[in-house]
Parts: sequence; C-alpha cells; structure tokens
Amino acid sequence: MSRTVYVNGEYVAEEDAKISIFDRGFLMADGVYEVTSVLGGKLIDFEGHSVRLQRSLSELDMAAPVDMDELLAIHRELVKVNEIDDGLVYLQVTRGSDGDRDFVFPDPEKTPSTLVLFTQNKPGITESPASKTGIKVISVEDQRWTRRDIKTVQLLYPSMCKMMAKAAGCQDAWLVEDGKVTEGSSNNAYIVKDGKIITREISNDILNGITRAAVLRFAREAQMIVEERSFTIEEAQQADEAFVTSATTFVLPVVEIDGAQIGDGKPGSVAPRLREIYLEESRKTAI
Ligand code: PMP
Repeated sequence: MSRTVYVNGEYVAEEDAKISIFDRGFLMADGVYEVTSVLGGKLIDFEGHSVRLQRSLSELDMAAPVDMDELLAIHRELVKVNEIDDGLVYLQVTRGSDGDRDFVFPDPEKTPSTLVLFTQNKPGITESPASKTGIKVISVEDQRWTRRDIKTVQLLYPSMCKMMAKAAGCQDAWLVEDGKVTEGSSNNAYIVKDGKIITREISNDILNGITRAAVLRFAREAQMIVEERSFTIEEAQQADEAFVTSATTFVLPVVEIDGAQIGDGKPGSVAPRLREIYLEESRKTAI
C-alpha cells in the first residue's frame, strides 16, 4: 500500500512526491535529519529529537522550515493517516534548491529549505530477534568528518561500515579513532564492567544520542553507576557486557566484538534490564 508522505507543506502519495534535482540535500548532502520511533501509535522522545534538530539546523546556519508545534502536528498526522502502530517517522531538512549547482549557500530569504517526512511501519519492533540474541560487531577506523554532533545526511561512510560488517558476518561496526571507540555506525556504544556502565563522553566526536540521554538518566535513577569516558576495543572485549542504543533499536546487546565473545557470548543482565526500563518509561511519556 502506498504511504502518504509530507513534502514542503503538502501530504501526498509517495509516488507523487517530488524534489528538485538541484536540491542541496541531493547534490551536497547539505541536510539534516531525525528519526523518531512510534510505539502504540505514539511518538517516543519527540521533544529530544526536535531540540536536537534545532541544534543541527543552527550549527549549519539553516532556518527551521516550520515551528516545533507544527512539526509535531505533521508527525502525528503522518502516524494517523498511515496507521502506524509500531514504526518510525523519518524527517529531513535540506538547504533547498536555488535552481542550479553552487558550493556557496543560497540566500535563505530567496531559497526556502526543503522539508520531507515519511513513516516506516515496523510491527513488533520492540520484539526484534536481535534484542534477544544480541548482535556481533566488527571494529572499523572512524573515517567520518569531525562534526559528528550534527545529524547530517552524510551517511555514506556509515553505510560502508554496515557493508563491511555484513561481509564479515556481523550486524554492525564500532568506529575507532586514535585507538578509542567513538560510537557505532548508527548508535552509541557502551560497555559494562563490574556493574559500571561506561560510554564515551559527549563531544563533537559523536552524535549526542537522544536514547543515550534517556538510558543514562534511567540508569542513574536505578542507582547504577555511569562513567562517561572513552574505551578501547581491547577493554570492550574484556568487559562483562556491551550494548548499543538508538531511537529505532532502543537498547541492543552486543555479544561479540572482532570475533571475541563478550562475557559468555549471550546478553547479560544490565542491557536487557535497561531495555526494559527504557521501553516502559518512554511509553509512559510518549505523545
Ligand atoms: N550515533 C550515530 C552515528 C547515529 O547515527 C545514531 C542514530 N541516528 C545514534 C548515535 C543514536 O542516536 P539516537 O539515540 O538519537 O537515535
């Protein structure tokens, strides 16, 4: 069945949605995005995603195409018309098209940004097999640009990392810079040692995950100890547990890194517990 999508003020069938070939998102990857999960027909962590979107836009001197109330209304309308129970809403803002190709930014007064949103239906998203078995990851050199705090649509290298992981019989890659893990190709990375949860501190080196913030808050509220610092692949391989977080996978155990089993090779107790708390608490505040 064809989805209804949103393009610059209009709700249209996906096959009728049109964007200029001169759009800077297409030509220059000059755009930012957000992905918000939907559970039980409601948006998870919407406020966090909209605040991060505003930050991404302002870091790139891009105007917000609509205000945040309007953005929420568009999200809700798409969830409703596409009858999404469990799934996600993808949102992308680009610097638009001034009808030609030029490295120089167009005048924002004359060239409005492009706003596109669409839904993905993912029934049973919280019960994924990977959440029960955990995933295997490989380590890969982090070759991305150094403003990873901005959620841009420059996803070629993360895509290549996923392909490298797939070729190695794994599900994802952890990126390593100067000997330390930055994050996963599309998630934040954690290890657990002696009950302590360790994850890299926030900086321009990683994306400030909305799920990360929520999970660390819930962990601290549950009296768990959190240490925000970087770690090596070797330290991770010797950890008791490892896991990743993102808006669409929530909390996902990692059971193998570069062929080395973590703990007994099965999800431990901390990651599944955090997953349960995260899902329960975020359902409560979903809008
Ligand atoms: N880091 C990277 C590189 C990501 O792509 C993502 C997911 N988009 C995350 C971390 C996790 O962020 P969030 O929890 O907001 O989905």
